[in-house]
Amino acid sequence: MQASSAQQSHILELQLLDSEVMQANTKLKSLPEIEQLLHIDKRITSANEELAQVKAEADQIALELRRGEVDVETVTDRIKKDEARLSSGNATPKELEQLQHEVESLKKRQVDLEEIELEIMVKNEAIVARLNTLTTDLSSLETLKTEINQRLTTASTEVNLLILSKTTARNEVATRIEKPLLDIYEKVRTSTGGVGAATLIGDKCGGCNLTINAVEMNRIKALAKDELLRCEECRRILVRV
Ligand SMILES: [Zn+2]
Repeated sequence: MQASSAQQSHILELQLLDSEVMQANTKLKSLPEIEQLLHIDKRITSANEELAQVKAEADQIALELRRGEVDVETVTDRIKKDEARLSSGNATPKELEQLQHEVESLKKRQVDLEEIELEIMVKNEAIVARLNTLTTDLSSLETLKTEINQRLTTASTEVNLLILSKTTARNEVATRIEKPLLDIYEKVRTSTGGVGAATLIGDKCGGCNLTINAVEMNRIKALAKDELLRCEECRRILVRV
């Protein structure tokens, strides 16, 4: 197949632009922010799970605290009643003795219950502090996620604009290439993972990097400049530069 030097250099120009588009697409898929977002999402999920667990524990402790308060109140009320009865002077000596005995044991019970209540209060303070820390951590993570998302948007926009401008340029170059040559280029490019044309560097194909044998090189050297070369190994269009 014949192709003028101008056509051959258009093909190389097209290849350069297509490679740039391909690199930009790879960059778009591997922007560091994508990995960072995956990582932060995992951290947010686990922080939310922990928060739910701690909230359930906090609810349980709050319930225990209310029960404890009621228990102390009940005993305190009972002591007040008994003491009122004791000081009323209406009770018989036997009742007085019973009442004094009851007040004594109620006071012991009151001390025990107050101790239990105090322990629950300490537990409650700890869990409330834990809840606050977790809530603050979660909010920092959400802020960080928003920042990373913004950085990702900025970076993606930049790469997408580059892709757009390179694609426009490659489409413009493609209009200057004769259809049969462009068809070969596109066919090889599709089947070789993106590279349809390469330069011949010395006796090496710039596409597959394999050395062309001496016989073939002699044949190439004897060919006219507008004779289109193809690498025998990878079938890419080879351009002499
Ligand atoms: Zn090759």
